[in-house]
Amino acid sequence: MRIGIGFDVHRFVEGRPLILGGVDIPFEMGLAGFSDADVLTHAIIDAILGAVAAGDLGHYFPDTDLQFKGVSSLKLLKDAVVILQNRGYKLANIDAIAILEMPKLALHRQQMREALAEATGLDVSQISIKATTTEGLGYTGRGEGVAAQAVVLVEEVLE
Ligand code: MG
Repeated sequence: MRIGIGFDVHRFVEGRPLILGGVDIPFEMGLAGFSDADVLTHAIIDAILGAVAAGDLGHYFPDTDLQFKGVSSLKLLKDAVVILQNRGYKLANIDAIAILEMPKLALHRQQMREALAEATGLDVSQISIKATTTEGLGYTGRGEGVAAQAVVLVEEVLE
């Protein structure tokens, strides 16, 4: 088995949808970014790539390449799983946490797990999504953006 870690931050801006874990969440602001700026999914992708020392998200999906402009991060996640499979590994589980003051994510957590399960081929029981605030401290506490962390475990596929 191998383990990977991912971390990402995106800034809140007006006039964009808020996409987290592949789910469009009703909120007065969204996240700035070249893709759909799904910070939670980006952390998961970097954890997957990290588990097999395959570089990072920006390496495969650079923000200088117009084909990734506005792209759904679930599509990038699917591609990351293929990279993982090509290196002879499969996902065992994902644990991810969104760090933000608002909005509350509890009502959307199950839908995020289902969207991520669909994109990765995992069962929902293998995907954990959590959320926390930073008690008003720092950039997330001031509501300037959303941070996310993820860890994944991968296992070698034995032929
Ligand atoms: Mg990102």
